[in-house]
Parts: sequence; C-alpha cells; structure tokens
Amino acid sequence: MKKIPVVILGATGSVGQKFVELLHEHPWFEIVALTASERSAGKTYGEAVRWMGDMALPPDIAAMTISPTRPDVPGRVAFSGLDAAVAGEAETAFARVGFAVVSNAKNHRMETDVPLLVPEINAGHLELVKKQAFGKGCIVTNPNCSTVGLVMALKPLQDAFGLQAVQVVTMQALSGAGYPGVPSMDIVDNVLPFISGEEEKMQSEPLKILGTFKNGAVENETIAISAQCNRVAVRNAHLESVSVKLKNKAPAAELIRVWQSFTAGSDVRNLPSAPEKPVVYFEAPDAPQPQRQRMLGKGMTVSIGRLKACPVLDYRFVLLVHNTIRGAAGGAILNAELLYRRGFLDD
Ligand code: NAP
Repeated sequence: MKKIPVVILGATGSVGQKFVELLHEHPWFEIVALTASERSAGKTYGEAVRWMGDMALPPDIAAMTISPTRPDVPGRVAFSGLDAAVAGEAETAFARVGFAVVSNAKNHRMETDVPLLVPEINAGHLELVKKQAFGKGCIVTNPNCSTVGLVMALKPLQDAFGLQAVQVVTMQALSGAGYPGVPSMDIVDNVLPFISGEEEKMQSEPLKILGTFKNGAVENETIAISAQCNRVAVRNAHLESVSVKLKNKAPAAELIRVWQSFTAGSDVRNLPSAPEKPVVYFEAPDAPQPQRQRMLGKGMTVSIGRLKACPVLDYRFVLLVHNTIRGAAGGAILNAELLYRRGFLDD
C-alpha cells in the first residue's frame, strides 16, 4: 500500500520522541513533517531534540527541518504530543484544514463529540467523529496515561460483573512529566504526593471511556472512583494499586479468568500496534514491576497481579502500564490505525 503521510506535532517532547520511534518504520504511516515551538522551528530535528529514545535517532529523521506548529505542513494525519497550553487551539486548526488529529493532550478529551478512544474497549465511540464539523478533518483523543491502564483492567470486570466503586493509588514515572520534568532535587530521596490535575482526570475519564454509545452519543458510566496520584523515581511505566467493589459478587479465579480471556474486537485485534493480549495476569507474588513487565506486548499490554480479597471493598490488585507507549504514543497510533481500518481516512 502507499503509506499515509503523517506529521508529528510537538515532535521534540517525551511523547513526540516516542512517536518518532514507533512511526519510523510503521507499515502504514510515513513521517513527512515534524513541528515544535518557535524555539525549535527552523533547526534540524537532530539539532533541536535532546534524544532519549531506546533506539539511535534515525539519520533521515535527524536531518528533517522542524516546522512551526501551523497547519500549512503536508500530511493526512497529525499525531499530537503538544503541550496542553497550546494543544487545544493548534489541534482544532489542523482538523479544520482536513487533518485527522490523533491527540494525547487533555484539551479535547471530554468534549461530547470527541472520542476518548481505547480501541480494545470502546471502538464504537469512533462514530462520534461523524458529528464533528471539520469536513475531512477530525479529532480523536486517547486518555491520560494512568487512566488507560486502569480502564484496561476495569473493562473485563465491568462486562462480567458490573462495577460499583473503584479506589486507585498511583506511583507514576518521571517521563510522564515530560522533559526535563521534575527537578532532580525534588525526586531523589523523595516521593511527590501531587500531580496537577491527574486525580480529577482519573476520576472522570474512565466514566466516558466505559460509557455506552447510544443514539449517537456516549452515556457515561456511573462508577464512584477515588484516585490519589504520586510521582516516583522510575523512568517509565506507572504502577497502580486498585480496589474494586463489584455489582455481582464472584470468586477471585473468575476475575483472573475474565482478564486472561479479554480480547479486542476482530478488526482491532490484528491492527499493527495491537498487542496479542491487551491484559495479562501474573501469579508471581511480586509482579508486576516497572523494570520487569513494562515492555510486555511491546509496551502495549497492561500487566496485572496481586489479586487479593479486600476487607473494605471486594478485591484489590496491582497493575502496570507503560506511560509513553500504551499511555501515549502507542495508544494514539493504535487509534489512527483504527481510523484507517474503519475508513475514516478515505478521501
Ligand atoms: P514535553 O516533553 O514537555 O513536550 C512538549 C512538546 O510541545 C515539545 O515538542 C515542545 O516543543 C512543544 N511545545 C511547547 N510549547 C509549544 C508552543 N508554544 N507551540 C508549539 N509547540 C510547543 O511534554 P510530553 O510529556 O511529551 O507531553 C506532551 C503532551 O502529551 C501533553 O499534553 C501531555 O499532557 C500529554 N501526555 C503525556 C504523557 C507522558 O507520559 N509524557 C502521557 C500521556 C499524555 P519545544 O521542544 O520546541 O519546546
């Protein structure tokens, strides 16, 4: 197939760099433009970026000149890793001229005609795009990086047993704060019990993602969610301690069975970035851990472990999600693959 031309908005940031890594040899998409702030525009990518990728910066990408973030660049899809301070207006401007904008930023997530998409969970919400007034263009978002791990673990439980209440405490990686992020003097020998806006996002976004698409709109779920978020000195991957109250009681083995048998719909399962297993349950008493499990399913699988009866709610468990892959660039690319598969990128 002829590859679809794409631009990365905010290409120099933590998420932008992960987009570069994951899109460089993508079978369907080809990077044709990179944008960032006026500070970086006009420089080559190699000059402007402080590269932190797991692979060497590809020479052809290093040689590309960074454009200002304006919608006069080439491309059909715009992958956005823009700072939230500018993402809202910039993404709207790109959609208006016909780009399919696939965003990681918070700005458009909760708008009623914008899908907050996790393809394994709510692929049907993509239909919301048809209500948008951007012509050939559209905006699709993926959730906050902690939210996506949580909803991947909750969805199989919601479908099988129903959910009444969820309590979650996160231990979130440094890369979630972008680069250079948290000052070293604040995080060495320390834990930060505050991440601005994070708890509110974790309490609201799951209700939309787990909501039902009915009569052209998403009807939000009504689970009570309490979230507390902490920053810890781990480079990548967020660990979350979760307790749940189920609507219909079930033995622990049943919860593990529904996680292990959870699969995506048939047109999502074989997308290039879809992991073979969306979630995996580990029996080891000390799993999951960021160092050991974060790259499971190339960083797209959510790892779960430590399921126990909870004396306060019904059950508690621990999950791990890679924040810049499943929680950002990888999730966004999976969203774009679904847009393509369902014909939303056809001219
Ligand atoms: P980051 O490392 O700070 O990168 C921000 C990017 O935005 C850089 O490319 C920067 O370009 C660009 N930018 C800043 N101001 C701009 C302006 N005025 N005009 C145009 N471009 C501008 O942040 P990040 O961690 O990659 O996060 C990017 C977005 O994804 C944020 O909205 C964040 O909330 C969201 N997100 C992040 C994660 C994560 O794990 N990090 C996960 C999910 C969602 P310069 O280099 O030129 O300044």
